Amino acid sequence: MSAGAGQWTEPGAFEVAPGVHRIPLPLPNDGLRAVNVYAIAADGGLVLVDSGWALRAARDVLESALGSIGYDFGDVRRFLITHVHRDHYTMAVELRRMFGARIALGIGEQPSLERVIAGETHRQFADLTRWGAADLYGQLGGLFSAAETAAAVRDFELPDEWIPGTQDIGVGDRVLRAVPTPGHTRGHVVFADVSASLLFAGDHVLPHITPSIGFEPMRAELPLGDYLDSLRLMRTLPDLRLLPAHGPVSDSVHTRVDELLVHHADRLAETAAAVRDGAGTAFEVARKLGWTRRARRFDDLDLFNQVLAVGETAAHLDVLVVRGELKASTVDGVTEYLSIPA
Ligand SMILES: [Zn+2]
Repeated sequence: MSAGAGQWTEPGAFEVAPGVHRIPLPLPNDGLRAVNVYAIAADGGLVLVDSGWALRAARDVLESALGSIGYDFGDVRRFLITHVHRDHYTMAVELRRMFGARIALGIGEQPSLERVIAGETHRQFADLTRWGAADLYGQLGGLFSAAETAAAVRDFELPDEWIPGTQDIGVGDRVLRAVPTPGHTRGHVVFADVSASLLFAGDHVLPHITPSIGFEPMRAELPLGDYLDSLRLMRTLPDLRLLPAHGPVSDSVHTRVDELLVHHADRLAETAAAVRDGAGTAFEVARKLGWTRRARRFDDLDLFNQVLAVGETAAHLDVLVVRGELKASTVDGVTEYLSIPA
């Protein structure tokens, strides 16, 4: 099939390198529009990098895309999953139940996944109180109904294997190097095929958007600090082609990494300026910043994106504290940030 001259979300199986097909799968509701699964031919079967969201519509699209290149679900031997977010992980769980493929996931996802399986996903939102957004937390109540929690628990199971750290994984004739890249989530990994000059980047490096930081049931101490380190780590690899989970394939990981580093440097400066202007909590700072590439007002975002925005802002504030540009004090469970006069 062609490399796909149209929209990157158009269904099909698009060969992006010999033996590697990009297969975009639909997502139900959000701005991401689709998620790319990458099918790698190996030993007469397939290894899939990421799996999609366990939805009937996505499963049908995946089945017909695999059919168009001569495979079916029974040919999938293994899933290599970049991170535990639902749109990457849950279809693998569903297909494993039906066909028995094995699933590998970074060990850093273990605390979050165990919390999800225990039905405690709501605890990740408790931070909203500390961030000065107790009101948003209250509005989220509907997400924690017993039925919603049960549905979430049903979609997640433990993987067959944990990827313990940097590790070379044989996939047919090729070697994929799993490289931990914490930040978007604690256990995010990318898979580098240096010989073929490919980086299966998951959500770590996305071509058109900046990934959310630390949106997970067990948030890291300093998720943005981890993320920036993981971006710089990509600079120590050769400059590979970027195979992202959302968006089209492009030629240079390094180019996009550099843009993301500049974006976050600008964002850190804006965040520090908002505190100098008197915003105290992460919520107050978030309301002073523009959101998305179109610089939308915080109040115009939907509830879920407001929650993400406050979490992102807190991640930036905490990096500024570690860098000695701000100080933080927590009173009655709410953290206030203050400028440190130069
Ligand atoms: Zn994600």
